[in-house]
Amino acid sequence: MRMKRFFAVLACAFFLIDGQGQSYKKIHFKSILCDTHNDIISTCLEKNYRFDEDLTGKTHSDLNRMFKGGIDVQVFSVWCDETRQQPYQFANREIDTLYAWIARNPTKMMLVTNRDELSRAVKDHKLASMIGVEGGHMIEDDLSKLDSLYKRGVRYMTLTWNNNTSWATSAKSETDTAQHLQHKGLTDFGKQVVQHMNAIGMMVDLSHVGEQTFWDAIKTTTKPVLVSHSCVYTLCPAFRNLKDEQIKAIAKNGGVIQLNFYSGFLDSTFAAKEKAFNQRHKAEKDSLMAAGKQEFFADNYLFLKYANEVADMRAPFHLLLDHLDYIVKLAGVDHVGMGSDFDGISFPPQQLDDVTAYPLITKALLERGYSKADITKILGGNFIRVLKANEVK
Ligand SMILES: [Zn+2]
Repeated sequence: MRMKRFFAVLACAFFLIDGQGQSYKKIHFKSILCDTHNDIISTCLEKNYRFDEDLTGKTHSDLNRMFKGGIDVQVFSVWCDETRQQPYQFANREIDTLYAWIARNPTKMMLVTNRDELSRAVKDHKLASMIGVEGGHMIEDDLSKLDSLYKRGVRYMTLTWNNNTSWATSAKSETDTAQHLQHKGLTDFGKQVVQHMNAIGMMVDLSHVGEQTFWDAIKTTTKPVLVSHSCVYTLCPAFRNLKDEQIKAIAKNGGVIQLNFYSGFLDSTFAAKEKAFNQRHKAEKDSLMAAGKQEFFADNYLFLKYANEVADMRAPFHLLLDHLDYIVKLAGVDHVGMGSDFDGISFPPQQLDDVTAYPLITKALLERGYSKADITKILGGNFIRVLKANEVK
């Protein structure tokens, strides 16, 4: 009798451990996980890496690690900063790079431009590969270039990156008191850009834009907006996080906020730590930039070189979930998702070392009491809804 009970308890314990482990992984890998922002194209071009080789230890992402992390849909960011000449040409070069990856891996990747193609890619176990342009400067004030990018598969564009365009102001400039802006928000041409994006079926992405641009765009758009990689200002007052009124307006518009994993947007104590790091390594950064490195890559170089210091600066993992909970409480579960910014950030939270860590988020969502239906929405359903709502027949 005692022996029987012992085995029963043992079996039960075994079942619980196994059962718990299985359940979050099962839900994670069964759900369609859409990550709406990853900068691996820029990283590969800068460092001469290939996305379809093992880049473990060098980057946050590569093709096989995306599968390991359970990513079904990845929007690849096409980006350059304002110092690059001919940004439109460069955008096309980045798109060529993605096309080459897809051509080399026809059984593992598929270019996706709408919901039906997305479903087909997921069914065939291919990485649904989408394109988002990060920065309105890449259309060079020309709507025909926007059309051309759409034809090549681009399905969102952030109206600005950190720089302004002639027709929209960025969060960086609007919050920089040293800059005396002639104009804030969208110009008439800027409103035309938004209307044109609505007309052709390209999502209007409001990550990176200034508050005035945000409100002008929300008033102009007739379709739900995307915020592809941003977090909550109340929890972390970073220059381009979203204030409560903005979050509520996105919910009213039917849009979605995809959370950025950058510690500087999640953790309000991060800015002071970063400032100290920058002061310690200022001379080295100055010499890298004098030698011609873009600031983003100069920073990345230093972060890799001083990896021990960086490890201590990363935000606690629970903060990502806190930002998610905040949006859910304020706006509901239909307006939040994942836009990691992997390979565009140097400080993901603790434990989220790279794309393979994604199942930990599903585990944490279960632990916080989210239902399977809610998790399906958060991981991808909400983004797919916005994608569909922007499609033009
Ligand atoms: Zn960005």
